[in-house]
Amino acid sequence: MEPAQAVTSNGNGSYDYDIISWFDSVSENAAMFQRETLHRILEQNYGVEYLKKWFEDIKIQEMDACALESLYTSLVPLASHADLEPYIQRIADGDTAPILTHQPITTLSLSSGTTEGRQKFVPFTRHSSQTTLQIFMLAAAYRSRVYPIRNGGRILEFIYSSKQFKTKGGLTAGTATTHYYASEEFKIKQEKTKLFTCSPEEVISGGDYKQSTYCHLLLGLFFSYQVEFITSTFAYSIVQAFASFEEHWKEICNDIKEGTLSSRITLPRMRKAVLDIISPNPSLASQIEEICEESQALDWYSLIPKLWPNAKYVYSIMTGSMQPYSKKLRHYAGTLPLVSAEYGSTESWIGVNLDPSLHPKDVTFAVIPTFSYFEFIPLYRQEQDWTSGAVDFIEDKPVPLSQVKVGQKYEIVLTTFTGLYRYRLGDVVEVAGFHNGTPKLNFICRRKLILTVNIDKNTEKDLQLVVERGSQLLSKYRAELVDFTSYADVVHQPGHYIIYWEIKGDVEERVLGECCREMDASFVDHGYVVSRRTNSIGPLELCIVERGTFKKILDHFIGNGAALSQFKTPRCTSNQMLLAILNVCTIKRFRSTAYS
Ligand code: AMP
Repeated sequence: MEPAQAVTSNGNGSYDYDIISWFDSVSENAAMFQRETLHRILEQNYGVEYLKKWFEDIKIQEMDACALESLYTSLVPLASHADLEPYIQRIADGDTAPILTHQPITTLSLSSGTTEGRQKFVPFTRHSSQTTLQIFMLAAAYRSRVYPIRNGGRILEFIYSSKQFKTKGGLTAGTATTHYYASEEFKIKQEKTKLFTCSPEEVISGGDYKQSTYCHLLLGLFFSYQVEFITSTFAYSIVQAFASFEEHWKEICNDIKEGTLSSRITLPRMRKAVLDIISPNPSLASQIEEICEESQALDWYSLIPKLWPNAKYVYSIMTGSMQPYSKKLRHYAGTLPLVSAEYGSTESWIGVNLDPSLHPKDVTFAVIPTFSYFEFIPLYRQEQDWTSGAVDFIEDKPVPLSQVKVGQKYEIVLTTFTGLYRYRLGDVVEVAGFHNGTPKLNFICRRKLILTVNIDKNTEKDLQLVVERGSQLLSKYRAELVDFTSYADVVHQPGHYIIYWEIKGDVEERVLGECCREMDASFVDHGYVVSRRTNSIGPLELCIVERGTFKKILDHFIGNGAALSQFKTPRCTSNQMLLAILNVCTIKRFRSTAYS
C-alpha cells in the first residue's frame, strides 16, 4: 500500500491528515507490511540472475508471505557491498540482462564515500525518488503539527547537485541527492507543499559549491521575509554556508542593494538565472547590513532569526557524524528550533523523525515498513574479549523488524526494490521504542571500527564522545572546535592515536596540552585502557591544524566527484592524500601525559 492518494491530494491540511493516517495504518501492521514488501520485491525480481542461485525452482507467486519470508532469509546469504560489486559493475558496463532487477537500471547512485573512504555505486530507480518524496512529505506533516508554516512561503535550501556522468555502459551516474533534485518528484514536492526553494535549478546544479553557496545566501536574503525554514541534507552544509556568509556578507548586501551579482559568480547559466530573479532593494540591503554589523560583534550569535524573521526552524540531519556541528548550528540559530532530519542512505530511506521538537541527541527514527525489507543483526559488545582482534561486536542471527527489542543494538540489513538482497548497510542503531508496531531507532554510528591499534576497539561514536570531552575546555577560552579527524598510527612503535583539530580562537599551549590529556583519559574501551597502561599503545597525540585545513579536505573530496549535499568529514582516515594535507597543515603537536 502506497500513500498514493495522499501524495496527490490538494491542500496542506488534508494532505497532512492523509499521509499521517497512512503511516499510522502501515506502522500498526508493520510486520504484515514488511512481509508484503518482501513478497513484492521478490515477485518483481523473480528469476533475476542473482536470486536464481538460491531460488531456482521455487514458485514465489504461489507462496504465502510468511513462508516466503522464512525461506528467503534461510536461503539467501547476507551480503556486503563488495559481494554485489561485480554485479553492479556489469550493469554499469552496459550488461542489460536481468542481473539484479527485471526493471532495467538506467541510473546509478554514488554513495558519498566519505565514511568508507571510497565511493560505491548503488542502483537508483524511480522508486528511489518516489520514496524520497514520500518520506519528505511525511516528515513535513509531522513538523507542521508542531511548527505550522504558511502556504506559499519559501525554503532556503543549501542543496547541491554533483555532476552527473555516464558510465562505460552509458548509464547516468551521480549522487542520490543529485538524481532527486533532477527528478519529477522534487518538482511535485514543491507544488504539493506550496513551498518553493529560493534558488533555481541552475544554482542547485551549478557544480561549483562555492558559487552555489553564495547564490543560495543571496537569494535566501532577497526573499528573507518569505522564508519559512532553512534546511540542508546534512548539517555540515549549513555551517559551511554561514562560515562563508561571515566572509562575504558585505558583497551580498551590495548585490541586494544594486540588483547585481558579484564577479565571483562566473558560471553563465547560474549568473543569468540569479540576475533574472533579483532586482535592486536598497532598504532590505541596509537592514541586513545593520543586522550583520551588530551580529559580527556578537560572533554571529542568533544570526538566522535576525536575518529570516519568519523562519520557524532549521531542519537538517544533526545526528551521527553531524552531531559535532549542532553546537555551531545552535549558535547561529539562537533560540530558533533545530529539527533533526530523517534517516536514510543512498541504498534506501529507513526512518522518519516523528517528534520534531526533540533535541538532536534524543531523536529517534520510526522505520517505514513499506520502503524496503529490513532485518536487524543483534550486536553485543564484548568489553573483556582480548582475543577477537579487530572484531568490534559479537553478532547474533538477524531478526525481522517485528522481533527487535528495546535497548538492543543492531546492524541494519536491507532488501530493496533496487536489487540489493540482504545487504549489510554497516550502520549501528539502537531500538529506543515503538511507534505502533514499527521500531523507533536511535542512530549510533557506522559499524566499522575507526580507531584500532591492537586489542583496542573504538567506533566513531566513541571518538566523538572523547573529542566532546576534550574540547569542553576550549569554550572557557572563547575558542571552539571547527572540525576534527583521527588516524591510528601503527607505523611508529608503539602505535598510538593521532587526533587532528582545527580550532577557531587563540588558546594557550598549556590548555591544549590539557585537552590532549583529557581525550586520552576519556577513552573507556577496556582494550585501550589496558594497552595504554602497559604502553603497548603510546600516548595520544593532538595535532592542531591551521585554519582552513578542513576546507581543503572538503575541496579534495569535491574535486574527486563528491557532492557537498552528502559530504561527511571522515572521522578517521588512513588516506595518504588526506594525511598529507593534515600533516602539512599541522602547526602544533601535543603528546598526552595521561597514564604517565
Ligand atoms: P550516503 O549514502 O553515503 O549519503 O550516506 C548514508 C549514511 O549517512 C547512512 O548509512 C548513515 O551512516 C548516515 N546517515 C544518514 N542519515 C542519517 C541520520 N539521520 N543520522 C545519522 N546518520 C545518518
